[in-house]
Amino acid sequence: MTTAGSFGSTAQGQESAGLPVPDRRTLNDYRLLVFGTDEYRRIAFVCECDDPSCGRSVILNRFEYEDLRREDKPVLFHAHSVHPRAEPLTTPQTAENDH
Ligand SMILES: [Zn+2]
Repeated sequence: MTTAGSFGSTAQGQESAGLPVPDRRTLNDYRLLVFGTDEYRRIAFVCECDDPSCGRSVILNRFEYEDLRREDKPVLFHAHSVHPRAEPLTTPQTAENDH
């Protein structure tokens, strides 16, 4: 007499339709957790610029990434930007009229 009762696989109705897309910063933090175990490993992070369709990857190691995080800066692909930054690379805007 054999017991015929195999019901191991129940259908799991865990289909999340309206899954909110995690923001890229969260994604990058997650990447650091997963790939940042090796200190010098190059990790492909996601560009955090304003363009929602931007899918550029930014290669950093964990130190470079943590530097950005420490200064609360976004991870950015080369020329992309979040907001105009006031950098002293160009002519300073300070009005020092000396005449
Ligand atoms: Zn970008």
